[in-house]
Amino acid sequence: MKTRFFAPFVILIVTGLLVGLSLPDRAAESAAYPWKAAVATVDITPEPGTWMAGYAARKGPSEKILQPIHAKALAIEDADGGRFVFVTFDLIGIPRPFRDAVEKLAGEKYGLAPEAILLNASHTHSGPMIRLYQPPKGGGEERAPYANVPDEEQELRVRQTREYNKKLLAAVDQLLGESLENLQPATLAWSHARCGFAMNRRTPGGPGEWKNSPNPEGPVDHEVPVLQVRATDDAKTLKAVMFGYACHATVLSLMEISGDWPGYAQRYFEEDHPGTVALFLNGCSGDQNPYPRRLLHYAERHGRNMATSIEAALETPSKPMAGPIRSALKWPEIPYQQPPTRAELEEKAKSKDRYDARHGQFLLDVLDTAGGFPKSYPVPVQVVKFGNDLTLAAIGGEVVVDYSLRLKKELGEATGGAPVWVAGYSNDVMTYIPSKRVLEEGGYEGGGAMRYVRSTVHPAPWDPSIEERLVGAAEELEAGLRKEE
Ligand SMILES: [Zn+2]
Repeated sequence: MKTRFFAPFVILIVTGLLVGLSLPDRAAESAAYPWKAAVATVDITPEPGTWMAGYAARKGPSEKILQPIHAKALAIEDADGGRFVFVTFDLIGIPRPFRDAVEKLAGEKYGLAPEAILLNASHTHSGPMIRLYQPPKGGGEERAPYANVPDEEQELRVRQTREYNKKLLAAVDQLLGESLENLQPATLAWSHARCGFAMNRRTPGGPGEWKNSPNPEGPVDHEVPVLQVRATDDAKTLKAVMFGYACHATVLSLMEISGDWPGYAQRYFEEDHPGTVALFLNGCSGDQNPYPRRLLHYAERHGRNMATSIEAALETPSKPMAGPIRSALKWPEIPYQQPPTRAELEEKAKSKDRYDARHGQFLLDVLDTAGGFPKSYPVPVQVVKFGNDLTLAAIGGEVVVDYSLRLKKELGEATGGAPVWVAGYSNDVMTYIPSKRVLEEGGYEGGGAMRYVRSTVHPAPWDPSIEERLVGAAEELEAGLRKEE
């Protein structure tokens, strides 16, 4: 566990250029917005022997720790005392019950409103299982969501997962406490670079079929946005970088705990900048994979590549951020398409494809215990504005890259060309979030992946209105915040 303190320094900005200490101090002081900020890091590495999350095909628990994993916080306070905390995790996702527990804790103990906290998961497929399946209406015991967890191990795995969630909540408590207690004068700046190892992973495989395979023609977002947090000392000490990228953390499929490529990126940057904390804010990675994959040295190389891209972003002209910081959050209900009938599910449960058969049986069990299916699911949309210098939109679920490309364009136009940063995997990660295009094309990200989800009940693919509803929510929240200026 590390906590960082900031020392004072002065930043000099004239017409967008850093000009060193040659200007009078008065001009310098008037140029820098008086932020306060602090970071904190907590080790959240599970015990070896914990069941892992990410691949339904895994047949046993983790065998060893390849690399420790972390949760990190970046707390920011503006000149009016407005506070916001980013919390990032080297984990597969954010379960909704965990988000609810964090909101309760943050409100009661730290006076933070729900919209003033953003939780984001790196989506490492080499971390611990953090979700459990709770049958609707108390129709049965909580269970591990992975079909390969043996019946005789259920009690152990459920207990491990509950205990891990408890420890994780204690970790967030520690992160909020330390970061908010240690706020120090700081400057914030934004810059960006590019990095190329993410590739679209949807390749046409025949009529209506999509293979999970690298598609160099498919849409990508190679931008690496970087929020720089510097102390106000003479050296302008770099205290933290929060960086984004749209790419699955799926280089590795070992039985060993690690942060995958984002874990290596954060570690390498921190090793190269002793005293600086690197936080990863996962982007719209839903249909993006790292290539090449599967060997440890590729996780290390992509991590190194990303750490170098952050360095490159530090060399580009950076845009100072002025306050205030403002945020808004809503949970629009996204409808599902028509659910399957009991007869269709009974047929599916007999399928030769074992995942289809299991999914059919899973939905039949839900019908039996709950008497019906949910008609919609609330997907979180959060918008954070740093004055009008930067707009950050964060959407829940495994958001495909089309959202990033569209929101950067549309919110960028709405805000007069100011930078826009789009994150996915935020506040609740329940399943994939396809665009209208991907939904209509079908395949894994279009709805096929829902058959593997056993922690929440998704009875049918999302309604095609999903993209308009989520983009509309982000645009409405941004416009509302802009009006408050
Ligand atoms: Zn995924």
